[in-house]
Amino acid sequence: MNETVLFYHLFHHSTIGQAVVNKDLEMIYANRQLFQSLHSGIRDVKGLSFGKVFHCAELGYNNTRCGEMENCKQCGIRKCVKQILINEIVPDHVVRYSFYQEYLNTNKWLQVNGTQVRWVDEKFAALTFVDITDLQQRISDLQTKVNLDNATGTMNKASLISELRQLTETDCENSNFTVCMIDFDHFKALNDRYGHLMGDKVLEVFSDISRSHVRKNDLIGRYGGEEFIFIFFDTDQNQSLQILRRIHNELEDYFAGSVEIPVTFSAGVVHVEKLKGVLLYTDLLVDVDKMLYRAKKRGRGRAMSSMGETLFRRYEA
Ligand code: GH3
Ligand code: MG
Ligand code: MG
Repeated sequence: MNETVLFYHLFHHSTIGQAVVNKDLEMIYANRQLFQSLHSGIRDVKGLSFGKVFHCAELGYNNTRCGEMENCKQCGIRKCVKQILINEIVPDHVVRYSFYQEYLNTNKWLQVNGTQVRWVDEKFAALTFVDITDLQQRISDLQTKVNLDNATGTMNKASLISELRQLTETDCENSNFTVCMIDFDHFKALNDRYGHLMGDKVLEVFSDISRSHVRKNDLIGRYGGEEFIFIFFDTDQNQSLQILRRIHNELEDYFAGSVEIPVTFSAGVVHVEKLKGVLLYTDLLVDVDKMLYRAKKRGRGRAMSSMGETLFRRYEA
């Protein structure tokens, strides 16, 4: 076997996806791994663009070539090739590549790198593609987990505060949301009488019930031990109070047969609309907390808002 054949085999059977393209992303060659990874059955690539061979979702199934769509300007592979042809070596580019796999839109995360090669007076980019989709998925799962409270699966305090910050510190004429802070009533007594495991169970059931009553884009987070915050978007005070009442009553019913102390909570509710200027999230929290304190003072199992008192409790001990 002569050296040329050896190098061809090394290139073609490499476990890393490889391709050679010109400045317009026209294909010169691609190896077996890249065809497998991006599920392309096209083998005669000469004259075709990268996106055509690897079924780029931007180009679709018509005769469009790489570079002809508006979004091609944002293409990470194109940017990488441009840099390679100017600088010869480039740092890693992490590219989200969307393509059609048997008519289904699929996404893969690729770490793209490469070097410049000169051949018969023309410059080409020799690209390498490492499929990091699994790694990227694990990072994204971890990021989600980092923002959650382990025990209840609701948002944790840090991510709640970050959301509140964004909401209150962005001057937005269209802002329309309601913040509710809830605190369980006589939770210490429940723990003392039935044990901490029962207390934990109440918090878990509360979180499950809450999730089933709110819309997908609403937020629920654990602010402290047995204190939670809801943020309802495009929802006025009255609607928010109704949602809280439904959650409260389903929870109270759930434990009514097994626990003699009624499982109830109190709530403070504040609505924010057409925010002009900056509202400090800390001021908003102070206002909601004051409302909650008033609900507790008036006897618990109820909410306080600027509309006055809304009673929740159904069962007395
Ligand atoms: P109030 O109606 O005034 O809120 O009375 P409370 O007993 O709920 O108030 P307090 O702040 O005195 O007690 C809160 C209790 O909640 C004390 C704490 O042990 C309990 N708690 C906080 N987090 C958890 C938790 O994760 N699990 C359990 N089981 N209990 C918790
Ligand atoms: Mg409490
Ligand atoms: Mg408390």
